[in-house]
Amino acid sequence: MMNEFLQNESTNSSLDSHCEEILPLFEGAPVTVKYAPGQGRYMVAARHISSGEIILENEVPFVAAVMFSSRKNVCNTCQTHFKESSRHNVKCCSTCQQVYYCSYECKASHRLDTYHSALECSVLQQLNSPLRVQYDDDDILIAKLLIRIICARDRDPDPTRFATFMLLSDHVLDYDEKKWEEMNILWELLRELEGEEHQGVFSEPKDEVMGILSKIRSNFFGVWSMSGKQAVWSGASIYLRCSFFNHSCFPNCLVAQESKPTQQQLDRNNVGAIFTVRSVCDIEEGEELCLSYVPLDQPTQRRRAHLATNWMFTCQCVRCVDADADAKPINAFCCPDRKCAGGLLVPDCEDGEGGKTGWCRICNSSATLPTSDERRVWFKPTE
Ligand SMILES: [Zn+2]
Ligand SMILES: [Zn+2]
Ligand SMILES: [Zn+2]
Ligand SMILES: [Zn+2]
Repeated sequence: MMNEFLQNESTNSSLDSHCEEILPLFEGAPVTVKYAPGQGRYMVAARHISSGEIILENEVPFVAAVMFSSRKNVCNTCQTHFKESSRHNVKCCSTCQQVYYCSYECKASHRLDTYHSALECSVLQQLNSPLRVQYDDDDILIAKLLIRIICARDRDPDPTRFATFMLLSDHVLDYDEKKWEEMNILWELLRELEGEEHQGVFSEPKDEVMGILSKIRSNFFGVWSMSGKQAVWSGASIYLRCSFFNHSCFPNCLVAQESKPTQQQLDRNNVGAIFTVRSVCDIEEGEELCLSYVPLDQPTQRRRAHLATNWMFTCQCVRCVDADADAKPINAFCCPDRKCAGGLLVPDCEDGEGGKTGWCRICNSSATLPTSDERRVWFKPTE
């Protein structure tokens, strides 16, 4: 009796310390946060969730940035791909010449999530001259997100947003030597970008910067923009609430960059970086809610390697522990166009048949989906 009491008390106090600050973020959403020792925090359904239901709506990025290699084709502010027919409207930052806008309005925008600060401008100027440190596109992207987070920390009228960002997982305790080496290359790049004439611009202590960098690495989402009818990976964003969902290679939820785009939005290529989290099947109360961090059309070994290198864990999801999983068609749940990167279809809950068909988040095509009952037995742990 005594033991039981002690056990309950310790479970409750760890629940409090791990979930208390996060729970209010999800007020009004059909979810709750749980904690288990050894497993960490995870999201669960607070009630039955129907297939295709919206779980989180209008997730606006905390910060967002365009890939360096896409900068001349994608607007820094609205993240839409420039149309050839309106390229004459494209504006560029005259100081660093590294940030482009679709219009005067987007250039004049002071939206905090995409704000081109003086710090960022002076750092990006260094890219006009050859750098000593080798960098790739991802490194520059992460450096931009870092600067925007530092800017948000210092300027955001709502300090709880940065505080929430700092609550996200960073997996630093699982870093191996190789991972630390990668982080050090990033740090060297930042020092290099700081430039001689800008000494002190980056007056942040190394620990603080590394802390933020590791959280970015573990939590950014790729953002797509439409170039004509093709979706192109054009940048990354950090969404505070979406990052609390764990990974599964057979997820019951997905993030859509927009609820079903209207024809007008498709015409304007304006799918935007506002995310919606939706269920892809019926979910029972108490079931864990998961998203996928990796492309799902890869064999188990490749997915697991990808997750281990980038998120430092060995995936134990229902698909990864099914020895026959690679022989089972995940395609049945995905966009019928093999060349489309749309991945899992969103059940159409307005089809009057409870999501019998699904639509693609990227190309908008549709197909019949396996039923929730069929789905439940698709993958099975191997004894
Ligand atoms: Zn724009
Ligand atoms: Zn600039
Ligand atoms: Zn898995
Ligand atoms: Zn598609």
